[in-house]
Amino acid sequence: MQGNMMDVQLTVPFILERARTLYRHREIVSLLVAGRDEKGSPIPRKHRTTYGEVADRALKLGGGLKGLGLTRGDRVATLAVNSYRHLEAYLGVPSAGLVLHTVNIRLHPEQVAWILNHAEDRVLIVENVFAAMIPALRAACPALEHVIVMGPLPQAIPGVLDYDAFVESSTPLEALPDLQENEAAAMCYTSGTTGNPKGVVYSHRSTVLHSLASAPKDCLNVGEADTVLPIVPMFHVNAWGLPYTCAMYGAQQVYAGVFSDGPSLAGLLQDERVTITAGVPTIWMGLLGELDRARSAGTPYDLSALQSLIVGGSAAPEALIRAFEDRHGLSLLHAWGMTETHPLGTASSIPAGVDPVSDEGYALRAKQGRTVPLIELELIDDDGHKLPHDGKTMGRLITRGPWVADSYFKGEGQANFFSMDGKLWFDTGDIATLDARGYMHIQDRSKDLIKSGGEWIGSVDLENAIMAHPAVAQCAVIAMDDPRWDERPLAVVVPRPGQTVTHEELIAFIAPKFAKWWLPDATVLTDHIPIGATGKFLKRELREEYRGYGGQ
Ligand code: ADP
Repeated sequence: MQGNMMDVQLTVPFILERARTLYRHREIVSLLVAGRDEKGSPIPRKHRTTYGEVADRALKLGGGLKGLGLTRGDRVATLAVNSYRHLEAYLGVPSAGLVLHTVNIRLHPEQVAWILNHAEDRVLIVENVFAAMIPALRAACPALEHVIVMGPLPQAIPGVLDYDAFVESSTPLEALPDLQENEAAAMCYTSGTTGNPKGVVYSHRSTVLHSLASAPKDCLNVGEADTVLPIVPMFHVNAWGLPYTCAMYGAQQVYAGVFSDGPSLAGLLQDERVTITAGVPTIWMGLLGELDRARSAGTPYDLSALQSLIVGGSAAPEALIRAFEDRHGLSLLHAWGMTETHPLGTASSIPAGVDPVSDEGYALRAKQGRTVPLIELELIDDDGHKLPHDGKTMGRLITRGPWVADSYFKGEGQANFFSMDGKLWFDTGDIATLDARGYMHIQDRSKDLIKSGGEWIGSVDLENAIMAHPAVAQCAVIAMDDPRWDERPLAVVVPRPGQTVTHEELIAFIAPKFAKWWLPDATVLTDHIPIGATGKFLKRELREEYRGYGGQ
């Protein structure tokens, strides 16, 4: 027997329409570039608008794009920073039945061209600060028919459209167009940390379900009373879905644009009374430095409104979580996900009865957390057998759920999708443990694992333990070749300014926490660890540099 419920299609226009009507007067604040100082650094200008205006303009943007001749499923790329205009594209492009393709602004122009060609984008909406790339992209991307520039240009570029003029002169879409929930709404390429970028295509349904599921209390805890600053870029897995989640629930949004330094962020958090913010660990390390500096200078920031700093993208060291809590009374919420999971898979909310600032609480908060409802996780070995959830056994992390990809664009990378017990699963490429309470703990990416004498050593816990040492600013642990064990761990360490540390000191510091054979055989001090386009250590580059280190 069937249920008697309506078959309503879950589509992005519902999010747009809700923001346009229910939350019409809630604010969207953006830092735009007003000009440049004598050193060439951007000078910020604050722009304030509302969901009502953004949603009205989004409908016009959608109408204008259709007016250019685009039809259902055509891709519209953005090469843009976090701002209200980008939010208009988030809402307006999918509502027109088109596919919003957010492109990583930190990629090399050749990689951008490769991605635009692969996605066959017909329109590119580009922020004025990246306008220098336009001629090369036009030359390299034959499918690209129109370029629309957000923000004023110092000098006109022939044939490009001005975004604001385009929006204002366009006829709006009807408010709730008839779209099917499994149609594509957006797409995002993996950042290629461990291989070639692959396209992940989000549907309207996955976008709506992800927004519904990521807001509740034990997840990201987003509601109408909140003011949210997504520092995670809007090209990085839809800024972890926050622009849609906030629009659905009416939370105000604050966008930092090109300004991601500690003082700019701390100032915005304070002045806009931000309650929730989100970013990768490197952003929080920068902010922590600025908060510490301001406090010792006797001019602390007032962050009394701030309830949580969501951290994901790579592991947040327990020492970082403790430092924010102990020194500034601020709470980091650890979450995990990936481009293929829209991204939210887990959040490390604390179980009832556990004190978040007890040792047990911190240990749980340093894990990546429990699944968001409707997401499933399992661990398997290399032969595909399920492994126990005992908090100790490391295995390949696999996942499934309504906002997990079932394939990549153009059917690439099929080996990552497989069937088990009659169900489709996605192999994340992460190595993790799961404990009896369901807390998942990432140990490594499978390609970064150190394979010593046939056994696995996970680098993440070693790095976090080393980064807790007071003389250490950053640490990446990588495999170096070893004649006896094949691979052994090497710690690559950036000391804090003016400090130094020896291998012996570091090993003595972390030894109580690890089996002896896990401890790095050597430490190299460096002034810089390469960081990729989404703020993660580029271990592939480090491995190339130091692979033979053990033989020296
Ligand atoms: P890429 O896979 O190209 O690096 P993603 O942004 O999709 O790009 O990254 C997803 C990966 O980032 C995950 O598979 C995982 O390895 C890592 N990651 C994400 N969040 C966390 C976290 N909280 N802790 C540890 N690793 C994380």
